[in-house]
Amino acid sequence: MSILVLGGAGYIGSHTVRALIEAGRDVVVADNLVTGHRAAVHPQARLYEGDLSDRAFLDRLLERESIDGVIHFAAYSLVGESVSNPLKYYRNNLCGTEVLLEALVAHGVERIVFSSTAATYGEPERIPILESDRTQPTNPYGETKLSMEKMIRWAGRAHNLRYVALRYFNACGALPDGSIGEDHQPETHLIPIVLQVALGRRERLDIFGGDYPTPDGTCVRDYIHVCDLADAHIRALTYLEQGGQSDVFNLGNGVGFSNLQVVETARAVTGHPIPSSIEARRPGDPATLVASSDKAARVLGWQPRYTDLGEIIATAYRWHRSHPQGYGDR
Ligand code: UDP
Repeated sequence: MSILVLGGAGYIGSHTVRALIEAGRDVVVADNLVTGHRAAVHPQARLYEGDLSDRAFLDRLLERESIDGVIHFAAYSLVGESVSNPLKYYRNNLCGTEVLLEALVAHGVERIVFSSTAATYGEPERIPILESDRTQPTNPYGETKLSMEKMIRWAGRAHNLRYVALRYFNACGALPDGSIGEDHQPETHLIPIVLQVALGRRERLDIFGGDYPTPDGTCVRDYIHVCDLADAHIRALTYLEQGGQSDVFNLGNGVGFSNLQVVETARAVTGHPIPSSIEARRPGDPATLVASSDKAARVLGWQPRYTDLGEIIATAYRWHRSHPQGYGDR
């Protein structure tokens, strides 16, 4: 039996495929390669190029392969873009997942692990955030992810499909050997942008907002290493295979770093001054997002191994230094 990874050519997907293969799983990847990269797909995984909103494509794949579990990463994930182009997010994220669920139900697949996000909470009511806290997204990206969670929950109840939704906080870092990593076009995330400055590919960093109600006025985020996220997916899959009930888990380190602290840490790691200035706020950014991952620790036995921000940034730096053009396919 095989595991189907939708979006397995993307950033978190490719790291999870790698971890699955190392854990001895047989892996099938489906990816439309719009934001994913062919070179990120592990050579031992069978790649099917196509779109999850294409029912015929999914039917062909599910007829040919013997799939008993799905990990679903395939979605657009840029907050800013989702605000300016919400319908793109509804079409791809929500409509794509609806077609996927129909195909999974038709083919009798009963387990799905699904990428969700801290953006489902919106402006949090307290820190650290618990899974049971209010979910009120402040942007269409978070809204579509929350709707995807709900769609999977209702479909699961009706059709014998169990799920785990993993709400990631700020994914970062790269495989420590530097062979795969983060390559978004355009890049919008803080750590890769900071490292592009360190590598001379950008002149400076704009820090979005210096007047937030945080200790130094810049936003605070919970940075979690992509390899720790990959490990959580395998644990979630095993949990479902052992009969675990559908559930939602936060994945973070439980420690917040301000944008200025991230820049400071990157200066120490890279030895580069990383010129930066405080600019206007970016719409849709909550001031502080820090996870409680106690539930994932308790139920899935998950503990992040990368707890030092400098070490996390060092893994990302290794990837960016050895791949200044990313995968070089755009
Ligand atoms: N950020 C920034 N400058 C940039 C990119 C991001 O100041 O060029 C800030 C952003 O406003 C947020 C934090 O860095 O406060 C993390 O943003 P990112 O896009 O990396 O992740 P998000 O929290 O949106 O998932």
